[in-house]
Amino acid sequence: MYSAMFRCASRGESGCDVALPLDEVVYRCPRCGGLLEVVHDLVPLSMRSGSDWCALFDARWGATRAPYDSGVWAKHEVVAPHVKRDNVVSLHEGNTHLMLAKRYGADLGVEQVYVKQCGTSHTGSFKDLGMTVLVSTVNQMIADGKKIPAIACASTGDTSAALAAYAAVAGIKAIVILPRGKISTAQLVQPLANGAQVLALDTDFDGCMRIVQDLAERDGVYLANSMNSLRLEGQKTVALEIVQQLEWSVPDWVIIPGGNLGNVSALGAGFQLLNDLGIVRKKPRICVAQTAHANPLYVSYTRDFAPLEPVAARTTLASAIQIGNPVSFAKAVRALRACDGVVAQATEQQLADAAARADRYGLFTCPHTGVALAALEQLVERGLVKPEHRAVVVSTASGLKFTDFKVGYHEARLGGVAPRHRNVPVELPADYAAVRDEVRRGLGA
Ligand SMILES: *Cc1c(COP(=O)(O)O)cnc(C)c1O
Ligand SMILES: [Zn+2]
Repeated sequence: MYSAMFRCASRGESGCDVALPLDEVVYRCPRCGGLLEVVHDLVPLSMRSGSDWCALFDARWGATRAPYDSGVWAKHEVVAPHVKRDNVVSLHEGNTHLMLAKRYGADLGVEQVYVKQCGTSHTGSFKDLGMTVLVSTVNQMIADGKKIPAIACASTGDTSAALAAYAAVAGIKAIVILPRGKISTAQLVQPLANGAQVLALDTDFDGCMRIVQDLAERDGVYLANSMNSLRLEGQKTVALEIVQQLEWSVPDWVIIPGGNLGNVSALGAGFQLLNDLGIVRKKPRICVAQTAHANPLYVSYTRDFAPLEPVAARTTLASAIQIGNPVSFAKAVRALRACDGVVAQATEQQLADAAARADRYGLFTCPHTGVALAALEQLVERGLVKPEHRAVVVSTASGLKFTDFKVGYHEARLGGVAPRHRNVPVELPADYAAVRDEVRRGLGA
């Protein structure tokens, strides 16, 4: 009885009324060329009360068996009702820790700072949340007899890792197109290990994106980039999980790093859904954090959300958000408007120091999470995040995927960064007295 369709995302402004089934191979509105979005039929969803939805989701949290052991598929009805259970391709994504970083919060002067650890996941980034929905849908299309030779994506690293893993589990061919020399070794090795066809091109992400769109259009490979709005359906569960983990209450702020802007669009959709289901009657304020080296949304924001002017993204430590022409710009603006949003930007110095500062309190943050943490620091300074507020920072990837960034920081080898929180090993002879003296020095004795 639950159902969802692709609808034209600009139908609100343009009146375009395109509606297509979710197993149609289509990424843009055939009428106006705008992005599509997944729209759920709210009538059957409304048959259950808000508190009944909460009870159902609480009963499934921590399930040990498929598909409800996954945080995404535990919310099957409101995420991807079109996918039959047998076709689900899952790697136990979601249900990530919402860490109350008490000592870090105290350092910032905010009582409740939470970090939503989306990088604690099979391939080490939040991209798993969306990829399970996309690959499951394709798996079902193939089971239904559709001819799909492969799934392809352009990637700054994490999308390709997720695509390669889920495709390998399902036995579907994956093609990943990467900007040569612009992603970490750990990110490159994941799709290689999972047997994807990896094509490294002499261009940037935006250049890869143009080519993969041509491949999808002319050669029938299925496109896995976030312009494919199926992924956003899985990613929106981050909003649902945050609220569930806060005992079904809405935080004051959610701060999220943004590149192609699919994730903030998904976050906005998640909070909208929570209101539509009658689970909450409030939205948090959202802050999108961009790197100053790839900041088209920030520039637009400072001009009252002026139309997107693509920029040439410059090299940044936050490589996964080095994107100058974000595909989900319009959806992101809509999410920000609905959530009284703001946009902040961080320099290389700020993102690197913010990441290292949080690490001192037990985190192990990736550079993109560093961008969001730097934005949090700015919001506190500006008095927007107040001491009594609950602020949630979305951590998008595991720091373990970015060891070059971590090591480079502590060895003071990152260009343009003078590290404020360095920690380096002390090399000593294997001698008790030398070790004791150094330990005493370290303890301040
Ligand atoms: C993809 C990604 C982002 C950016 O998400 P968008 O949806 O492109 O805005 C941020 N951080 C990491 C680690 C990512 O992999
Ligand atoms: Zn349209």
